[in-house]
Amino acid sequence: MCGIIGVTGNGPVVPRLIDSLKRLEYRGYDSAGVAAVVDGHVERRRAQGKIRNLEAVLAEEPMKATVGIGHTRWATHGGPTDLNAHPHVVDGGKLAVVHNGIIENYESLREMLRGKGYEFVSQTDTEVIAHLIHSLYRGDLFASVREAVGQLHGAYAIAVLHKDQPHTVVGARQGSPLVVGLGNGENFLASDALALAGSTERFIFLEEGDVCELSLEGVRIA
Ligand code: GLU
Repeated sequence: MCGIIGVTGNGPVVPRLIDSLKRLEYRGYDSAGVAAVVDGHVERRRAQGKIRNLEAVLAEEPMKATVGIGHTRWATHGGPTDLNAHPHVVDGGKLAVVHNGIIENYESLREMLRGKGYEFVSQTDTEVIAHLIHSLYRGDLFASVREAVGQLHGAYAIAVLHKDQPHTVVGARQGSPLVVGLGNGENFLASDALALAGSTERFIFLEEGDVCELSLEGVRIA
């Protein structure tokens, strides 16, 4: 069990992510991390252990952004290390993914992606999701996530950021919970509506197999 969060808005996103992660910390406290689009690329901060460790990292290296994703981890594949902490990124900051669940066919996907030249740096099942989406990306994050999740066996709730779509968060779920929160000029994704207390009271509980796209204008679900 892990907790994931995604926020699109106009205000500083990092405090929102941290506040929601604290509300999700009951779901896992092996590590915590956040990613956001900063100056045209995805940046991330991660720390082993509780969210206060991540806050210390952010105090040293702040991030200013309005769109971001976050994760609090309960490790299933790979130890509770910094390297295995989410978000997982591709190519030093093209794309970032947070994931709750277990990908059963991650070994065969990893071999297929290695064959295409992708290098893996963690022991997690999650890292294959990041590389898989990247391998399918042709300028439309929603389309590439939908295609990628069609190849996943197992359970997932994910939130994804791409450097070229800086106001967008894409999510998908199958077997792990994910809820959309509708705000005014801001929209949210979370493992649990509790994570969004104080931000919104309008929710859409995603169905099995749903893929969603959050932007400043609204939410698309298919
Ligand atoms: N399988 C992923 C990992 O180990 C996510 C864990 C979870 O959802 O508990 O990093």
